[in-house]
Amino acid sequence: MKQQTDIVITGARVAGASLAIILGEMGEKVTLIDKASFPSDTLSTHHLSHLDYVDRLGVLKEVEASGLRKINRMRTYIGDSFIEGPRASYTLIPRRSHLDHVLLRKALSFPNVQLLEGRQVVDLLKTGDRVTGVVTADKKGNIENITADLVVGADGRNSKIADLAGAEKYGHHSAIRPVFYGYYHNIKPLMEPTTEIFLNEGRIGFLFPMEPGIDCLGLEVWPEEFKQMARHPEKFEEIYRSYYGMSVRMKDAVLQGDIIGTPGVANFFRHAGGKGWALIGDAGHSKDPSTGLGMNDAFMQVFLLAEAIKAFEQGTPWEDAVQSFQEERDKNLSPGYRLTLDYIQSRRSWTVEEETLFQAMAANPTVWNKIIPSLPGLLKECSADVPELYGSVVQDAENFRLKEENG
Ligand SMILES: Cc1cc2nc3c(=O)[nH]c(=O)nc-3n(C[C@H](O)[C@H](O)[C@H](O)COP(=O)(O)OP(=O)(O)OC[C@H]3O[C@@H](n4cnc5c(N)ncnc54)[C@H](O)[C@@H]3O)c2cc1C
Repeated sequence: MKQQTDIVITGARVAGASLAIILGEMGEKVTLIDKASFPSDTLSTHHLSHLDYVDRLGVLKEVEASGLRKINRMRTYIGDSFIEGPRASYTLIPRRSHLDHVLLRKALSFPNVQLLEGRQVVDLLKTGDRVTGVVTADKKGNIENITADLVVGADGRNSKIADLAGAEKYGHHSAIRPVFYGYYHNIKPLMEPTTEIFLNEGRIGFLFPMEPGIDCLGLEVWPEEFKQMARHPEKFEEIYRSYYGMSVRMKDAVLQGDIIGTPGVANFFRHAGGKGWALIGDAGHSKDPSTGLGMNDAFMQVFLLAEAIKAFEQGTPWEDAVQSFQEERDKNLSPGYRLTLDYIQSRRSWTVEEETLFQAMAANPTVWNKIIPSLPGLLKECSADVPELYGSVVQDAENFRLKEENG
């Protein structure tokens, strides 16, 4: 059987479903294809900080409707000390099974968008060197060809579309750190919902408050720790209970499900498109999850690709539109990429001297009285090799000022 469609999107999660929403609004004919069925989870925690994208996609209220806590603060621990501050805008931690499904439902509310779930893309259709559709297989191996004017790969970091189209990688850096995470009930909360980051022993711990009474706990560990922790997941909790205040706060904590882990996430850009095809989300750009940017970056790419599709429809040749998309994408994503690589590559255990001096300084207000006026300059100096770190602080300060001006 053969179907005719305008745009085929492989992958129906944050990247694919979001693009389908925008294209649905534009009146395009869209077929979403995913080998998974929905609602379902995927390997990912879910720190979502750029909620303006979710709002622009028209689903913020629905995402929040599951009773998620609005997180307004961030706390970073170094040993038994911490630094904490407010955020200019709130963060949400929606489960992927919820977020992806809300996006998908919105996409499917457009009569011109359809979903084929439980169906895998196994090959591309081509006319000469132009991609003209996909070959799909259902779980029983039944093959169906679907032709399209444009095939979009939103199929994650191991993208089949990228492989089949021959999209080359650049800026590549192999996976640096394994990540483990799990969901816990009954961790004693802080007074206000706060993202907590633990920078100890060169590991990165993160505590993300979700709905009241449930938190997502994560841990990026050293590569050599992966096998042992995968074999002995109780080690995860042991480490967490050793963190400041956590043995008391985790007294009644109960793990829901298993501790989930991955040996790491590869870091790269891929060529964003070519004749008849394009990539968005992790398929086009992937990086270590320590900075929690993957989903925000996927949304950003989606809005950029929609612009490229509009330009194409208004007469720009597709090859030019996709080239502009790639340039704009890389310009937007490069600072966060460099920041993430620097953060994760420079993580190490604090020396005893560093840690004890910090503890002594943290507990001494006269030190802060003296040091605060010099801190911005110090940060600028310390991050000369990653100027985007200072830039991101200035940007946040701007956001605070805007918030104050807008009341
Ligand atoms: C451990 C971990 C923690 C993370 N934590 C965060 C975080 O806190 N915040 C954040 O913003 N990001 C985080 N990320 C990154 C985030 O998960 C990704 O950036 C995001 O999932 C990218 O979305 P996507 O839609 O591009 O791809 P995916 O979510 O990977 O979806 C791809 C879809 O494509 C489908 N698919 C694949 N191949 C085929 C095929 N051949 N045929 C049909 N369907 C196919 C899959 O079934 C899947 O549903 C984390 C990642 C990991 C691994």
